[in-house]
This record gives sequence, C-alpha cells and structure tokens, in this order.
Amino acid sequence: MVAEHDPEWRTAVSVRSDVELERSLIERLEREPRRRSIWVTDLVDPRTAYYRQTAPMPIAPERAARMEAGRELHETIGAALAEAPHLEVRVQRDGIVGQIDLFDELPTELKTTGSLVDAEGIRRGRPAYLEQLGLYCALTDRHAGRLLLASSEVAHDLRVFDTEFSDLTGVWADATQGAEALRRALDLGTPEGLPGCAWRGRGCPYEDGRVCDCEGTEPPHSYPIAARAGPIVERPEEAVRLRDRWSARPSSPAAARRFRDLLYPRRTFFERTSPAPTGEPSEGSRPPSADGLYRRLSELLESGTAGEVSRVHPGALAAPEAVACYRGWPFLLKITRAWRTPAPVELIDRQPHYFLDLGLRSAAIGSRDGWLFLGYERAERPADRVRVYRVRFDPLAPFRETADARRAALDRALAQHDPAEAPPCPDWMARDCAYRDRCGCGPGPVTAPAASGGSAPSSGA
Ligand code: SF4
Repeated sequence: MVAEHDPEWRTAVSVRSDVELERSLIERLEREPRRRSIWVTDLVDPRTAYYRQTAPMPIAPERAARMEAGRELHETIGAALAEAPHLEVRVQRDGIVGQIDLFDELPTELKTTGSLVDAEGIRRGRPAYLEQLGLYCALTDRHAGRLLLASSEVAHDLRVFDTEFSDLTGVWADATQGAEALRRALDLGTPEGLPGCAWRGRGCPYEDGRVCDCEGTEPPHSYPIAARAGPIVERPEEAVRLRDRWSARPSSPAAARRFRDLLYPRRTFFERTSPAPTGEPSEGSRPPSADGLYRRLSELLESGTAGEVSRVHPGALAAPEAVACYRGWPFLLKITRAWRTPAPVELIDRQPHYFLDLGLRSAAIGSRDGWLFLGYERAERPADRVRVYRVRFDPLAPFRETADARRAALDRALAQHDPAEAPPCPDWMARDCAYRDRCGCGPGPVTAPAASGGSAPSSGA
C-alpha cells in the first residue's frame, strides 16, 4: 500500500483498543431494538428508498458519471457560497437524519438543474424541492428556509427563493408518519402501503431493471410537506450577491476531490480518463450492503447523544469532502470478513489502508486522534462483532506530505496520460478491478462483475 514515493507514515501511527466504548456499542447492538435511520431524501421518495435498501443495484457508468459531475458542481458551488462550518450540516432527530447543503441562519437546499424555473415552476413542477426543504426546517426548528437553484448549463447562473413553513408541528407529523411507514415496509419486506414511485415511467432504475413490482396502481405519490409551504418569494438581490461570490472562485475542481482519490490515485486516474465499461461496476458504483452490520453500526453511532456524530469541512484546499467525526475526532467504520480479531498492533500491518485513510482525514482537519470502528460480520460470538480503536497520528506531517505527494502524482499522471505516475492501489483491489489489463497489476480483464467481500474491507465510510 505504501507507494515508493509516499513519505513514511506508519511510524507516526499508534493504536489501542477502547474497551469501554466497544462494550457499550456491543451492549446496544444486542439490547436496543433496531430503529432504522431514515434519511430526508428517503422520505421524499420512500418507494425508491425501499428498493434502494432491499434490492441495491449497480449504478450504470453513465449515470454514475452524471451523478459525479452533479456532486462536483454541488460541492464547488457550496464551497464558493458558504464558509466550511456551514456546509453539509448533519442534523438528526428521532431517527430522521438530514444533511443540509448550507445552514447558517436558515437551512438552504442547493439544487443544480438544467433549467432555472421561477416560483410557480417550483410549486407546480418541483414539489420535491419544497418537501425536502420543509423537512430540514422541521429538523432545525426554523420556519424559514431557502432554495438555491444553480444552473448546470450556464456558469454562475442562479436563482434564490425563500419560503416559510408556519406549521412545523404538522410538518414533523408528516415526517414521522412517512418514516414509520418506510420502517414498517423495510421490516416486513414489502413496499405495500408506500406511495407510488415518483420516477415511474421517467427513468426509475428499479423499473428499468425489472427489480420492482410496481404496476402503477399503488397509492399516488404526494408531497404533503410541500403543500404546507407558504408563498415562495424570489430574492434577486441575494442572487446577485451569491453570483458575485461564486464567480470570484476558481471553477475547475482539483483532480483529487475525495479522500478516496488520494487513497487510490491510480484507480482515480483510470476512472477520470476511461470510465468503467458497462457491466463492470467501478468501486464507487457498487451497491451498498442492503441491511447488514455496516448499516446497523452506522445507525447505532448516529443515534447516540445529540452532536456525537458531526461532519467537519476541511476547506477546499485540503480536500472538498467533509470529514465524519465521532465525539470530535474523525472516524472510519469498516466491515471486515476476517475470521479473527487481530491485536491492535497487528492491524497496522494487516490493514494499512484503514490507517492511511483515517490519517489523511485526520490531517485534513488537524486532529491527532481518530476512531476506527471495525465490524466483524463473520464473528460467531456477539462480543466479537465490534472492535473500537483509538488511533493516534503523531506527528501529522507525514499524512499531510502523503496527501500532497499523491495529489501531485495524480495531477502528473493526468497531465502526462501515464498511470504509472500515480502510486498503485493495494494488491487486493486488482482482483475485481476493471482496469487491471490496462494497468498491469492483474493477469487480464475482469471476467465477472465485481462483488463485495473476500478479505478486503467490504464497506466503509
Ligand atoms: S489494476 Fe490495480 S493498481 Fe491498477 S487501477 Fe486497478 S487496482 Fe489500481
């Protein structure tokens, strides 16, 4: 995993078990009845959310590329318009979780779109925007919310709209009712009773992939929260102010846009220059584990004391991606298929990528400490299902230097069209890698679609 050109970082890592926290998580895992976390985006279209969790599908490369482009634009605009602490703010209440694009005085939902509609166009044609905004207002206990529509076609073009939800109690009642219906459907394993799919006949991947049983006779899809929104008022003066801010920022995103890009720069080179052929999903497009230990542990962490889980934005220079923190320290949650739980010191040699990943995140926000949560899905005894480690990175400099070196290597690889400029990925990645014949670290093209599992980490955050 350590590429020749990486500074030596392993000697800066020390790791020890946190037995107390581990015990408390195991106890909660055993005793607490499962309360599924429901995301705001799930509530906007619960039937799709049901299939996303019960029958996850690989995302087609073209769709993955579109989603990635949208995500990048989203992040570029967000970073231009708001300071780091106000970006991607995670909020949670009664098992309903949201991530607000911009949250300063009022929650703001940013939408990138091909056509910037007016207030009437939002009300009539884009009620999902209002539904989502109303949920954020209820989660943050704010009556006023803002919609920011940014053009994906015309640089720096945007419109700003404000609205109010005067009856937040009513909004929350709709939200909890929707969340309970989705939890019930997931528990019973049937989407019966959920509103019809909002995307039926308009490119729903579960309909196109013949995964769902929808016939069009389901209860009609509705947006009860959107219907509670007051007048939608356009704010042209605010649009001018934000447009000026946006246009003053550099528009081309850095080559390394996520921690994953720094972790696997060779793979990133191929993903940027030649997206995976159809039928060979790239790692980023693998379906998530439907209902496994990863999801269960995420829910446990998210449902602890308010504020225990947060997201810290390191600023555009370090990496545009926010760092998930637990009790103020960056954390990684990984699920492994290993049979036994090694001693903490052995872990650094066995799974160095965990520590490099966490170290890069920690260095980005200047934290010398981090958490590693490991779920052992093959463990027979409940007491062995979770391990919690406190990881110390001291000094942080080797991680900053590694990030700089890898960022430069990826830039060089892209500029020179030479993947060899970027450090290779860990050996286990080659087995399922769609690029291995071109890259030279495997014997030939991948013959079967990649699947999660094996000795490699099966999922992570
Ligand atoms: S073949 Fe190996 S080094 Fe090359 S991109 Fe794939 S996993 Fe990375």
